Amino acid sequence: MDFILFGIQGSGKGTQGKILAEKLPALYFEMGGELRRLSAEDSDLGRKVKSIIDAGHLVPTEVVMEIVRNFATTMSQDGKGSSIIFDGIPRNKEQNDQFVTLLNELGRDYTGIYFELSREEAERRLVTRRMCKVCKTIYPAMYTQPACEKCGGELMTRADDNADAIKTRIEIFYKETTPLVEEWKQQNKMIFVNAQPPIEEVTKELFNKINSPAS
Ligand SMILES: [Zn+2]
Repeated sequence: MDFILFGIQGSGKGTQGKILAEKLPALYFEMGGELRRLSAEDSDLGRKVKSIIDAGHLVPTEVVMEIVRNFATTMSQDGKGSSIIFDGIPRNKEQNDQFVTLLNELGRDYTGIYFELSREEAERRLVTRRMCKVCKTIYPAMYTQPACEKCGGELMTRADDNADAIKTRIEIFYKETTPLVEEWKQQNKMIFVNAQPPIEEVTKELFNKINSPAS
């Protein structure tokens, strides 16, 4: 079973996705990371991705799908288990329709997981999250230690986390991604998890819901 993660920025879906990937176990597909990995790879797809990134262009949907197909048909064979957790895709209707078609074509069983968080809480979390000045690790609002746990570096509020940028990202999420959540729900393909509580509690609910997706 593949799991497709949905959630507003600040919902902690990436954190939960990585926990899920480790515990199941499953492969973790995150678009940004996959683009970086491919652009360093000596392959046709790698060179294609690198040229798009170097030119500063957005990756077209058909290339996104090629990347997903490549991942599902090659990475999935390495013995770590064939389940994949997708994070960061689909973001909009165009991606969604092609993504679902591709999953069906590849014969993959899948369900969405929506990490529900209020708009107010998402904004609060994004404003208060911090980044290590040295290693650039991002820490959520819930991380209250004064220094980076990896390198001991000083933590600062991220420069791009200003109010306007956050509002824009949140607007795009509501406009383009939440209709997909509704669509998947109507097809009985979506599990809902409350992302408001502390990380450990969200993980607990997540595993409860996955073991009984019908509930
Ligand atoms: Zn650090």
